[in-house]
Amino acid sequence: MKIILLGAPGAGKGTQAEVICERLSIPAISTGEIIREALKSGTEMGRKAKSYMEAGQLVPDEIVIGIIRERLAKDDCANGFILDGFPRTIVQAEALDKMGFAIDKVIDIEVADEDIVARISGRRVCDSCGAIYHVRYKSSAVDGVCDKCGGTLSQRKDDQPETVKERLIVYHEQTEPLKEYYRRQGRLFIVEGEEHIADTTRKTLAILEEAQL
Ligand code: ADP
Ligand code: ZN
Repeated sequence: MKIILLGAPGAGKGTQAEVICERLSIPAISTGEIIREALKSGTEMGRKAKSYMEAGQLVPDEIVIGIIRERLAKDDCANGFILDGFPRTIVQAEALDKMGFAIDKVIDIEVADEDIVARISGRRVCDSCGAIYHVRYKSSAVDGVCDKCGGTLSQRKDDQPETVKERLIVYHEQTEPLKEYYRRQGRLFIVEGEEHIADTTRKTLAILEEAQL
């Protein structure tokens, strides 16, 4: 199954992606995660992306489209994949369609703007493996330490409130139009993001288990 997760920053796409990845044994692909890795290892792509990312802006389409084209060509994507954070613009969605991947379902996780800033402020990410935690909704067993790999948990630079506001503006302007794009294709499913992750997960899995379109 080929799945796209849509939604504002901090809506919980990454967390749902992890659950679906385990349930369906297909890879979860996060462009944000790939860019952060490139940044850490100091590649040319990482250097190009840095200023955009830190300002809460989108990284240029040609860069992320290149990332996705390369990633989806790998063997582990043969049985499907979950895209978390791609596409984020109409140009990216059209590029994906042109690559010839027939997407089965697009799940849009909806959370009100006023809840987003509060949620993101509690988000923590493992410096080593990228696992996502939340101080309130999904805490690690030991404070500041990753359950999966023992790495250190920290707050992303672009998760500061000022940058989050910018990311929300960008989301409404550039990414939200994708809802209409996929609605027209008959692929859009909407999930109201709940306060408790397990409630959101239940709804997401119910959509995936429905008969194929
Ligand atoms: P979130 O979903 O919480 O915003 P991500 O990790 O998906 O976090 O993205 C972080 C940042 O990475 C974005 O603000 C943007 O700068 C960049 N980025 C990730 N995916 C894309 C994309 N598809 N197009 C452009 N920029 C992207
Ligand atoms: Zn970890």
